[in-house]
Amino acid sequence: CLNECITEVYYIMERISLEKNIRLSIDSCEEQLYIYGDRDKFKQMIINLVDNAIKYTPQNGEVYLKLEKYNNNARIEVRDTGIGISKKHLPRLFERFYRVDKARSRSMGGTGLGLAIVKHIVLMFKGDIYVDSEVNKGTTFTIILPLFENK
Ligand code: ATP
Ligand code: MG
Repeated sequence: CLNECITEVYYIMERISLEKNIRLSIDSCEEQLYIYGDRDKFKQMIINLVDNAIKYTPQNGEVYLKLEKYNNNARIEVRDTGIGISKKHLPRLFERFYRVDKARSRSMGGTGLGLAIVKHIVLMFKGDIYVDSEVNKGTTFTIILPLFENK
């Protein structure tokens, strides 16, 4: 159940966001949504996006996690008010080891695999992922996943 998984991710990440003084909020839908696939993979995918959102958002920023039904799909949005990503980086963003600012990324830790893993899991679920971003304003990742109909 995606609603449950999203809520679990919210509680896992809440502590990390509080440490950085970032407000993490969640907006899940009433209707229970299901997809065909592994729940740990699903959670890993959302954790990676929320982890980035927190990591690339300065103190006192906001991260917003949303789940809704959209046609016959689940639509998950991870939005932040962070540093953003300039347009020229977007095409390569999901490549392994690709990082926008090498110097800054090194100081922040990590490997540059997070989004490559996200993309891989999205494809396993036969879904799609989109990113929309504005430098110094924030970033939104949107995942669309086909629903599993006969729960
Ligand atoms: P890892 O996830 O392996 O710890 P990482 O976060 O650097 O390392 P990815 O998650 O793959 O690697 O992200 C790739 C790059 O995309 C990041 O280095 C960062 O520059 C940029 N990025 C990802 N998410 C965001 C975001 N929400 N806001 C701004 N930049 C982002
Ligand atoms: Mg990452």
